[in-house]
Amino acid sequence: MADNLTKEQRHKNMKNIRGKDTSIEIKFRKALYHAGFRYLKNVSGMTGKPDIVLTKYKTVIFIHGCFWHRHTDCKYATMPDTNKDYWNKKFQDTINRDKLEQKILSEAGWNIIVIWECEIKSSFDDILNKTIKQILSNQYK
Ligand SMILES: [Zn+2]
Repeated sequence: MADNLTKEQRHKNMKNIRGKDTSIEIKFRKALYHAGFRYLKNVSGMTGKPDIVLTKYKTVIFIHGCFWHRHTDCKYATMPDTNKDYWNKKFQDTINRDKLEQKILSEAGWNIIVIWECEIKSSFDDILNKTIKQILSNQYK
């Protein structure tokens, strides 16, 4: 996908998507909290450092930035114009790491929910409801 952002926009974009605790993550966590769920966040000792860990439901939630984690067919998963080889490798490494981490977690008995940042940004309530349903259904597995 072509990258039509100006340098400045891209810089801003990367700043927004790079770090942990983006505002949308915080908003999402608060909404889960209000819905009655208790969780740990950004558990650093755990495989993949999931954004949200619901021990009671044996469920982890990853909120993935579309750019770094390469959301398929997403307009935010742009390809920078320069150093394409470098970026391709970097992206592929991230994708491989995500897959491996999810496999390890899944084998350890964790249910995994992946949420894409663009989805919670565009349909917050739908994604929240869907996620809650998924968490609750995991409970009875
Ligand atoms: Zn996306």
